[in-house]
Amino acid sequence: MQRLGNFINNRFEESAAHFDDIDPATEEVIARVPDGDADDIDRAAKAACDAFPEWSRTPGAERSRFLLAIADGIERHFDEFAELESRDNGKPIALASRLDIPRAIANFRFFATAILHQSSEAHVTDGKALNYTLRQPLGVAGLISPWNLPLYLLSWKIAPAIAAGNTCVAKPSELTPLSANRLAESIIEAGLPKGVVNIVHGYGPKAGAALAAHPNVPLISFTGGTATGAKIAAAAAPMFKKLSLELGGKNPNVIFGDADLDAAIPTSIQSSFANQGEICLCGSRIFVERSIYDEFVERFVAAARKLRIGDPLDPATEVGALISEGHMRKVLGYVDLAQQEGGTVVLGGKRVDRRGFFVEPAVITGLGCECRTLQEEIFGPVVTITPFEGEEEAIALANSTRYGLSASVWTRDLQRAHRVAAAIESGTVWINCWLLRDLRVPFGGMKESGVGREGGLDSLRFFTEAKNVCVKL
Ligand code: NDP
Repeated sequence: MQRLGNFINNRFEESAAHFDDIDPATEEVIARVPDGDADDIDRAAKAACDAFPEWSRTPGAERSRFLLAIADGIERHFDEFAELESRDNGKPIALASRLDIPRAIANFRFFATAILHQSSEAHVTDGKALNYTLRQPLGVAGLISPWNLPLYLLSWKIAPAIAAGNTCVAKPSELTPLSANRLAESIIEAGLPKGVVNIVHGYGPKAGAALAAHPNVPLISFTGGTATGAKIAAAAAPMFKKLSLELGGKNPNVIFGDADLDAAIPTSIQSSFANQGEICLCGSRIFVERSIYDEFVERFVAAARKLRIGDPLDPATEVGALISEGHMRKVLGYVDLAQQEGGTVVLGGKRVDRRGFFVEPAVITGLGCECRTLQEEIFGPVVTITPFEGEEEAIALANSTRYGLSASVWTRDLQRAHRVAAAIESGTVWINCWLLRDLRVPFGGMKESGVGREGGLDSLRFFTEAKNVCVKL
């Protein structure tokens, strides 16, 4: 069985303690993962510190070539990466091949080329002075990522961090270490100088917390749950670290009576159940205008019923396994809670009778916005459908949680689409679509869904410090 090592200074280190990595579709142990601790983080941070002076002075065009080589390396081993991601996470291999791995490659290519086009501002002060802005890397970036889109989100952080001239210590989720471990091999193949990227595996409260609190890591980019984000913010704030937090969501999917249901229904099936609902951007609260409510529910349930649940490695599978037994129990607990709160489970919501952590996609009706089922992030294949009357109520319902990550709005009325998009409290609003992403746009959450923005220029700004230089004329 594969025994992973922490990746420090371009070497895989033997670790004294390990824990099991479980394939959630078979419940079998597929690897042994280093139980990284504060000492490992410290060694990784030292390696990154030592590498920083030279890497930050390396010309952008040269850094760019390294990133492109990493992207090429992932692409050369595309099928291997897709299989690792699918086995580790339980996600359908079709999804890993369509979304996760292409995006990881795109992240490296995007930031490899973005840095070639970077420019900065100059401000002339009434003929008396010239100000110009330097955007300089900060040093060692601490990058903490979750299990739902393992390589997709890790590369979303590593690529801009090193493109901008920082070095980094990454801590992938302990539940999905395999693609990060394979990425380390691609990093060696690409010839990246040692210490630029270091990867320490381990548990969040141990390795993750040590990284968040490390004195020589001045910047933390974290994607994960809101409660963990609060802990990281508490550790980082007294040290005045630069912080980007991409947190949880409870996203609304608002369907107006004039929507094109032939488009809205299949896309809503995706936004509800893609990756077993384990995408922070999934639309778990569906609000439907009362005039089309019955038709929508009937057609949506019929489409959800057809989803193929099964072996994630089968290319025909559309719904795979949940990440872990604990998470599956949490999701099933929410289906019970929904019923206790008076909801009706009109479809699914049961554990599938087979090995692995499979849950049937669940559709729940009959609940109001105040109940816990519509307030708390479930992060599984569970959606509620609630009717509304008119635009005002739709906006109020959409905004009725503490989260504000993303929203979808379905209507053919262009003016209404713009009005509703402006009124919804979320970092992203999709009109008549979902998960259509452009790497240049700002990405992040409002309210308890996060702080700061990444993506395109925002990532490059986050991973650099702006310094104004004022020259007297
Ligand atoms: P967690 O918050 O549990 O974990 C995220 C990462 O933080 C993991 O690497 C975890 O390690 C680590 N971690 C846990 N505790 C600490 C700590 N005290 N200090 C430092 N690091 C720690 O989230 P999940 O992995 O469960 O991911 C699901 C969550 O992520 C959902 O809430 C989802 O909405 C959110 N998410 C948000 C996205 C966004 O862009 N806004 C995108 C994707 C997911 P370990 O796994 O080892 O515990």
